Amino acid sequence: MKQRIYITRKISNEIVEWLKQFVDVKMWMEEETPVPRAILQKEIREVDGLYCLLTEQVDRELINQANNLKVISNMAVGYNNIDIEYAAKKGIAVTNTPGVLTETTADLTFSLLMATARRLGEAEQFLREGKWTTWSPMLLTGQDIYGTTLGIIGLGRIGEAVARRAKGFGMKIIYYNRNRKPNVERELNLTYYPFEELLKTADYICILTPFTDETKNLIDEREFKLMKPNTILINTSRGGIVNEEALYKALSKNQIWGAGLDVFDEEPISADHPLLSLKNVVVTPHIGSASIQTRMRMAKLAAENLISVLQKKQCSFIVN
Ligand code: NAP
Repeated sequence: MKQRIYITRKISNEIVEWLKQFVDVKMWMEEETPVPRAILQKEIREVDGLYCLLTEQVDRELINQANNLKVISNMAVGYNNIDIEYAAKKGIAVTNTPGVLTETTADLTFSLLMATARRLGEAEQFLREGKWTTWSPMLLTGQDIYGTTLGIIGLGRIGEAVARRAKGFGMKIIYYNRNRKPNVERELNLTYYPFEELLKTADYICILTPFTDETKNLIDEREFKLMKPNTILINTSRGGIVNEEALYKALSKNQIWGAGLDVFDEEPISADHPLLSLKNVVVTPHIGSASIQTRMRMAKLAAENLISVLQKKQCSFIVN
């Protein structure tokens, strides 16, 4: 008898057909709505593999419902939605999909940086609302990118890819990371700065660490006070790394110049959230890796990871 898996969202037929060669597949058939918790609790009981997204909280309680589970395959590089230590204790492997989304997420990070600097959201709205009456010297003026300093916090795969883009734009690049990376420093001409010095120096700050106990509220009231009034903060990592209340205060008091955000404390962020009332914020709905090609690559890699673990083959993407 084939092993069984549950997929928590409707994914492409091509991937499902590929999986069906190896396992019995059951899938939540909605594309836009996450599987309700109660259904997931029931479905997880007998399956050998779970294929899930970051919309599922795979916590201790859910893991305890599973009787046969051997692998949790997350279709994301971040895995803060899964209790990986508890899964390991239960002998369940957790896998992720790094690498395949690096360049696409770096593209979005840089897009947000440029859109915030040049006020693209505001400019488009201004035009669409029929407010454009004449060319005028200081209309919708933003910040320069060329010749400014980018500070990257978290110089991993995506951080490095953002640095490569910034180099092409003639930026000076400084970074802070848990461990120094001398090879990357040499290759991309980066300068390591201690955390607080980076906050005081950078014109643009990109957050690209994972969301962990250590990085929760890494950027809070104290950190905003250290930044310059022209600083633009870009967060494409995870919401909880930046304290949203402190961010709102810093932006509304013009303590910093602007923010570009792809990720939020609570997702989806509610339309009446105070942050969304501010003009100096550019927002996107967690679409960092959302290119057609990359989403297909992620879906395929998550499927391959799941099958490798079930077939007891080598898998390079086990995180626990
Ligand atoms: P990665 O290669 O693991 O890079 C993370 C970097 O953060 C590493 O260099 C790591 O340092 C550093 N780091 C970890 N904890 C730190 C701390 N406490 N202080 C300073 N630096 C720390 O991961 P990645 O592939 O670049 O992805 C980064 C994150 O982006 C993911 O975790 C995910 O949350 C987010 N992401 C978001 C989207 C989106 O759709 N918006 C898409 C993809 C990824 P070490 O070298 O010491 O380990």
